[in-house]
Amino acid sequence: MSLERVRDILAEADRHGTAVLAFDAMNYAMIAAAVQGAAAAKRPVIVMLYPEMAGYVSLEGFLALVKEQARQVRIPVGIHLDHCSDFAYIVRALKAGFPSVMADGSLLPLDENIAFTASVVRTAKAFGADVEGELGHVGKAANEGDYIVSDLYTPVEEARVFAEATGVTALAIAFGSAHGNYTRPPKLDITRLKKINQAVKTPLVLHGGSGIPKEQLTEAFHNGINKFNVGTEFSYLNQKYTGQYFEQEMERDGACGHVEYAREKLSAYIAEKCRLTTCTAEPGTTGNSLEEIL
Ligand SMILES: [Zn+2]
Repeated sequence: MSLERVRDILAEADRHGTAVLAFDAMNYAMIAAAVQGAAAAKRPVIVMLYPEMAGYVSLEGFLALVKEQARQVRIPVGIHLDHCSDFAYIVRALKAGFPSVMADGSLLPLDENIAFTASVVRTAKAFGADVEGELGHVGKAANEGDYIVSDLYTPVEEARVFAEATGVTALAIAFGSAHGNYTRPPKLDITRLKKINQAVKTPLVLHGGSGIPKEQLTEAFHNGINKFNVGTEFSYLNQKYTGQYFEQEMERDGACGHVEYAREKLSAYIAEKCRLTTCTAEPGTTGNSLEEIL
């Protein structure tokens, strides 16, 4: 078993001056590919459930699938609930056994975001769980204004205040990325990232990772980003490969082959993506296995 705490995985990435990749996954092929692809690249990985995806896999079903995959590899595997602004849903996830959750209050004014996030941190502590907060708003890539206008970026001093007031174990910040497919390549504000990294001890998270040029990612990883979320690209490829199977391969493998076809193709994608980072992935490097929650 190689299930480990997200905070420990991120601390290890921080020691290496790099990031760990985190993928939103909602079915067997995606979850298996995330874990097996990362294992092939010998990198740690975090598998995340996006609440909207919970319509297709239950909280408990998701946990069971990730744990089953984690048992079969020798890399640190983290489990995390992605963007959630609903306190009751976060509590449901914690009760189901999620060891890490995101409390997304980024659309709230600073004081309300602090109050909401701090209340999630207090609750999560009772479960021994980690909490990622978000300050500044990572918007939608379809709206250029969401990632080009620096007014929406995370202010350095507010980041320090937010991290200290809430006690989050990871902090998502806005410095030029956005969710979804970009209308034109983003330009990350690395200077701002460096300043936030100096002001805040908490590991920083980059959201909206689909489509950021590789050189910019490498620079971000070297300057404080310890968790890199990938959602859109992975989800698109899952659909693409499943469709490709039915168009090109169905005659060859029979009616159930699409799952294996997608898993294999997605595993290769994950392995390549994970090699963007330099974190080594010896099991137990964080020193804290989560076997007890299995
Ligand atoms: Zn996000």
